[in-house]
Amino acid sequence: MIFEGLSDKLQNAFSKLRSKGKLTESDVKTVMREVKMALLEADVNYKVVKDFVKTVQERCVGEDVMKSLTPAQMVIKIVNDELTKLMGDVQSKITFSQQPPTIIMMVGLQGAGKTTTSGKLGGYLKKQGKLPLLVACDIYRPAAITQLKVVGEKLEIPVFEMGDKQSPVNIAKASIEFAKSNKHDVVIIDTAGRLHVDEILMQELKDIQSSVKPQEILLVVDSMTGQDAVNVSESFNEALGIDGVVLTKLDGDTRGGAALSIRAVTNKPIKFVGMGEKLDNLEPFYPDRMASRILG
Ligand code: GDP
Repeated sequence: MIFEGLSDKLQNAFSKLRSKGKLTESDVKTVMREVKMALLEADVNYKVVKDFVKTVQERCVGEDVMKSLTPAQMVIKIVNDELTKLMGDVQSKITFSQQPPTIIMMVGLQGAGKTTTSGKLGGYLKKQGKLPLLVACDIYRPAAITQLKVVGEKLEIPVFEMGDKQSPVNIAKASIEFAKSNKHDVVIIDTAGRLHVDEILMQELKDIQSSVKPQEILLVVDSMTGQDAVNVSESFNEALGIDGVVLTKLDGDTRGGAALSIRAVTNKPIKFVGMGEKLDNLEPFYPDRMASRILG
């Protein structure tokens, strides 16, 4: 379960406060040292942890926590507030275009879960009454087109493909025309990924971006890769200006470092999380619920 270790450690740290009547500044410092260690062990970005601890500590001293009759609860509330803020405060939704179709471009490294997530997102939006179209722009991985078609069939969502002989830009452009004439109000473009961030990949994505002008560029990253996911997010954001992140494989992530760092490092919100391999295992990301989960 995500945040398992972090939850245990935080609860342990706070339980020591509970036994105390009033707190001293040094009690707060001691507990914050434990919070810091717990966050670092959860693989949260170092600078994010440093800033977080500083803010919480300042608030604890500033808000008369030490004079309070229930100081432990106040400390926990402040940590809860700041964890929520760290993850973006409120849920960030997809922006839909005033003039359909809304174009959503899915980007990310190979294996992050891009194709699966494109399907999942299509299914999610279909349930909300949209008429999505999935577009196969990954022409390099032979199985990618087939994989998207299989996903589309399962979800009963049409898949637009032109094989692997056309350029991704041409496929993307043609898909928009197809969407317009077939009343699709959302177009989800599954782009190619590579094993590492490289110039060729970014250039291709930039070309697609400038030719179809998507409302949303969603970066798909694997939460199990921890700080690598954060670095990948920074690179994609610098190159393309992403609109949000989908954090996949959260079902297998016990630490949660990416979930806690991405927003603070990139200033871009996590919009959805992948919670399993099944096509309905996609959930909107709620920072406040995540924070409550961490604090148990
Ligand atoms: P792509 O190369 O980025 O298109 O990645 P795929 O969509 O092919 O996914 C790679 C693998 O990750 C597949 O085996 C997926 O089933 C799996 N996967 C994707 N999202 C999730 C998730 O949220 N949880 C789990 N457990 N597996 C996932």
